Amino acid sequence: MRILVVEDEKRIADFLGRGLESAGYSVDIAPDGQSALDMVHAADYDLITLDMMLPDMDGLKVLEKIRNRKTNPPVLILSARGAVEDRVKGLELGADDYLTKPFAFVELLARVRVLLRRGQPTPEKLTVGDLSLDCIRRKVVRAGDNIDLAPKEFSILEYLMRNKGRPLSRTMIVEHVWDMDYDGLTNIVDVYIRHLRSKVDDQYPAKMIHTVRGVGYMLELPEMRNDKPNP
Ligand code: CA
Repeated sequence: MRILVVEDEKRIADFLGRGLESAGYSVDIAPDGQSALDMVHAADYDLITLDMMLPDMDGLKVLEKIRNRKTNPPVLILSARGAVEDRVKGLELGADDYLTKPFAFVELLARVRVLLRRGQPTPEKLTVGDLSLDCIRRKVVRAGDNIDLAPKEFSILEYLMRNKGRPLSRTMIVEHVWDMDYDGLTNIVDVYIRHLRSKVDDQYPAKMIHTVRGVGYMLELPEMRNDKPNP
């Protein structure tokens, strides 16, 4: 799945690019309206996220031109302008959804998934060993037990599972799960990981959430041993 991020503010563009890539999408970034139109013309995108305030033209103008080219990827407007008339105008011009800045990455990801899923009926489910996570029903099951997670715990677990076997830094986790304007300490991740472990790992013999020294955390099945350890 290929996503075009139209955003002139580098910090936000990087934030979106990194987040969407770690969720498994390939991402191109257009820093202004004209490059966005050129890129839409040159490549097939499955989805476009569109900032409203661009240096060279209004986001609504970009949207109008995209639709005039008869290309049909879903468009998600991301704007600091929360005004109702902007929202209505965007949707009238063919945007599929509208998200007001600042937003948490998980919120964006949820919208992106809904838009990409149209026409694809299979619900998204992640499984690692005996642990499974249903992204749609927001349910977590380990070894047949239902596990209750708070929303941020759920988001962190989903992020870890989606990146199984890949170490994730505290910064990556914070940027993914908290609001993009969150300025607090990344230590908060350690607190949440402790909660997660107590719910998902502690009472099961195989521990999946690993601390990666000097980096952060990683979810992985423990190594399966074929040989029995010596008594
Ligand atoms: Ca902007």
